Amino acid sequence: MSFEYEELLKKAIEKIPKKVSSGERFKIPEVVIEVQGNKTLVKNFGEILSALRRDSSHLSKYLFKELATPGNIQNNILILQRKVPKEILENKIESYVKEFVFCKICNKPDTKLIKEGNSLFIKCEACGAKTPARQI
Ligand SMILES: [Zn+2]
Repeated sequence: MSFEYEELLKKAIEKIPKKVSSGERFKIPEVVIEVQGNKTLVKNFGEILSALRRDSSHLSKYLFKELATPGNIQNNILILQRKVPKEILENKIESYVKEFVFCKICNKPDTKLIKEGNSLFIKCEACGAKTPARQI
């Protein structure tokens, strides 16, 4: 079995729809990283963003700050300018989800971030609550 075939197979399996809208079934995709020299590439950053329904600038800003590491995004891949263990990244993304994805009122992940003036809010599509989010 060629590597390419395995990759395709993996992608096909990933495409099988999962139930996403209820809290218990919400799942953060496993972080796929590749260390290149002193850099860490988060290869499925795009997939993580769509699972979280967040835009790249907000989550990347959070990670750069939390990890005290500069970086950038190229072709949906997050590039961090140092070696970061996978566990640390997963940990940080989990904290991000707790703080910026789950509704503070009903604890469901069906939310979006909205900006009003200089303030950021988490707007819940399940219960309608709008709670302020910390500036990062
Ligand atoms: Zn809610």
